[in-house]
Amino acid sequence: MQKIIDFIQNIYNTKEFIPLHEPRFIGNEKKYLNDCIDSTFVSSVGKYVDLFEKNFAKRVGSKYAIATVNGTSALHISLILAGVEKNDEVITQALTFIATCNAISYIHAKPVFVDVDLDTMGLSPKSLKNFLETNCEIKDNLCFNKRTNNFIKACIPMHTFGHSCRIDEIKEICDEWNIVLVEDAAESLGTYYKNKHTGTFGKLGAFSFNGNKIITAGGGGVIVTDDEVLAKRAKHITTTAKVPHKYEYVHDEIGFNYRMPNLNAALLVAQLEQLDTFIKSKRDLALKYEELFKTYENIDFIKEPKDSKSNYWLQAVLVKNVDERDEFLDFTNKNGVMTRPIWKLMNELDLFKDCMSSNLDNSKYLEERIINITSSVLV
Ligand SMILES: *Cc1c(COP(=O)(O)O)cnc(C)c1O
Repeated sequence: MQKIIDFIQNIYNTKEFIPLHEPRFIGNEKKYLNDCIDSTFVSSVGKYVDLFEKNFAKRVGSKYAIATVNGTSALHISLILAGVEKNDEVITQALTFIATCNAISYIHAKPVFVDVDLDTMGLSPKSLKNFLETNCEIKDNLCFNKRTNNFIKACIPMHTFGHSCRIDEIKEICDEWNIVLVEDAAESLGTYYKNKHTGTFGKLGAFSFNGNKIITAGGGGVIVTDDEVLAKRAKHITTTAKVPHKYEYVHDEIGFNYRMPNLNAALLVAQLEQLDTFIKSKRDLALKYEELFKTYENIDFIKEPKDSKSNYWLQAVLVKNVDERDEFLDFTNKNGVMTRPIWKLMNELDLFKDCMSSNLDNSKYLEERIINITSSVLV
């Protein structure tokens, strides 16, 4: 195990504490930030928000991008736009970060958990199909859960650690069952599935620019869609639902103050310019790890699944023996190299323990074995 510590200290060229994932500000960040401050337009109006939205949409290949204050709010608004209402259900994976389930809960809707695929760590089309065929029927042209008597309005798969799930198959199933597909692409900026950018398969997609994501502004998020009506509505309800007017304050519904400040957008314009460099570094790092872990019989390095060109946002290994997970975590963290386990399954949190779920064997298998290892971009 000392060999792993030496290896990581060697690539990062330090014997000091090595965090799991550090942001890098090595482009035009200070220049744009200064420009933004000098303009005094630091808040919710300003040219960087518009510029970032334009650049982002172009980068991922969506028609529209609407910047928000963080990824959770992007998910929250996406679900509202997908038509999710109180007491509805939303299918997602139990193996995800809590933000996905928080966004569902803000609407007083309920998550329903299906299993993930072992190779993608993302929502399994097979598990989804099986769940729907066993428990649901079409009623009033919507997907109706016969066990709970609720409608399933949306499905949010997540692209775990920047590896794409089988999003085309998931889309097909959702279309068949009249379920709106919303992608939690918070971790997968720059990741393509069969040459199409993740987050652009669904009706709506949400990204995050939290401090640990592949590009960051400290905080931030964005909604992408090809639907002009939804895009306009996203902008409207994230900006207090104010009706455009020269000076009057007229609001036509209860909106949200979810708009991204211009300061954050200035940072993000600079960060987005470096995305390709960051991804190249992460993909190179993945190759190095792959070589290293080939020499360990009981540890597998997680490689991009078939059809996914991954951003390798967070690097991960899988220990074959459950007992070795804590050993790995203890040893690395004690020796100055930060590592951490994957999230606790959502259905195991008290908050969601009453939610309906399918068999979650794969999710459990991965939960017990996956460890994230040092992933910062090499400079
Ligand atoms: C980071 C993240 C989000 C959004 O997080 P914010 O901190 O609100 O930007 C949502 N889902 C997943 C899976 C994430 O990793």
